[in-house]
Amino acid sequence: MNEASPSMAGWVCPFCALACDHLAVRVGQGDEPLVLQGGDCTRARRGLERFTSRTEPPAPTVDGASATLDEAIAAAAQRLAASCQPLFAGLGIDVAGARALYPLACACGAICDAAGGDALMHTLRALQDRGQFTTTLSEVRTRADLMVFIGSLPTDVAPLLAQRCGIGEAQVPARHVVVLHPRAGDAGMLAAWAGHGVTVESIEPEGDLFSTLAALHTALARPAASAAPPALQALAERLRRARYAVLIGAPSHLPAHGALIVESVHRLIGRLNAGTRAAALWLDGGNGAATANQVFTWLSGLPLRSRAGPRGLEHEPLVFGSTRLLEGAAVDLLLWVSSFDASAVPPPGTLPLVLLGHPAQGPAGARRDAVFIPVATPGIGVDGHVFRTDGTVLMPLAAVRPDSLPNVADVAQRLLQALRALGT
Ligand code: SF4
Repeated sequence: MNEASPSMAGWVCPFCALACDHLAVRVGQGDEPLVLQGGDCTRARRGLERFTSRTEPPAPTVDGASATLDEAIAAAAQRLAASCQPLFAGLGIDVAGARALYPLACACGAICDAAGGDALMHTLRALQDRGQFTTTLSEVRTRADLMVFIGSLPTDVAPLLAQRCGIGEAQVPARHVVVLHPRAGDAGMLAAWAGHGVTVESIEPEGDLFSTLAALHTALARPAASAAPPALQALAERLRRARYAVLIGAPSHLPAHGALIVESVHRLIGRLNAGTRAAALWLDGGNGAATANQVFTWLSGLPLRSRAGPRGLEHEPLVFGSTRLLEGAAVDLLLWVSSFDASAVPPPGTLPLVLLGHPAQGPAGARRDAVFIPVATPGIGVDGHVFRTDGTVLMPLAAVRPDSLPNVADVAQRLLQALRALGT
């Protein structure tokens, strides 16, 4: 059992893609949950509550029965070897886990997709089609005098967003914050951000987000000929006059065909950058999705929703979506990885399942045709690294109370060895 310990300062939070590093964690005794200190964040608090202070790791299971790690690895390798088309999904992993998972995916021709892959593809497809101009949290905090949120205030995705964007801080003495097409509850939150040099504005929809962005584009390009509503014409003028405008959105909040919205935002930014300075900030990729995408891209040259199989490297941003593959019975085994978020369980189904999961996910892997291997959580039970939402910053995760669970990289490497021993 652990001694009660003082809080661990300098902790990097692994529970969303902001990777905040200004909070701390208190490790108590026995079954006391880990406790967030130095500030509050509902998402981080709930994430920590899923871990006890003592480290008594659960055992793996094979078909619902308790097993040793060796037995679970052997069973998982046999099922992978028997699979004609496995799907590796979830992908809640850190850099080391992704690096180790990639050769395993290549060895068995697995298709790989993250939980929340549809949202990831919105930004990825827009980037592939037309390129992008994005910024970092630090740039937003220190320079942005105009912030335009596209389609919502995504504080459910990134609860401490306002704080991380420096809203209300003196570094930028006057900021204007706009929400285009606010959702229920956004107006109250926006009002709370006002003051201390911050002015706020909600622009209600007059059509869908696609048509609003098209009207804004026209108001920017041809102000004299624009028939856009007055609020959009005023916003176009603000964008022209801003020293540094940042357009912020959460791809997971966008409707179907959200890549078109992302692309439209990028076109606006391209136009603005001819005369002033503007950039986008897309908030998503938490729970390891952005990290898996970065690592797979640098290892293979292709992002997620790809496969290294008999036809060489293939990338299919729509066809290789995990929901589509599972619903279409196009895969015959699901290997699901979720080392950060206990609630990110595999989708229900009867396919053979290999679950490299958060220690609290035992019930999700306790069924026939399933192997559950509990893995350590980077930033809680083991050290690791993840990419932040702005994509250029790699954050180190230090374990707050190291445990004896294997990490995803260990398990993936052992699975690869076992597969090779089976002749696969
Ligand atoms: S905003 Fe995200 S990274 Fe920051 S403390 Fe909350 S969950 Fe953690």
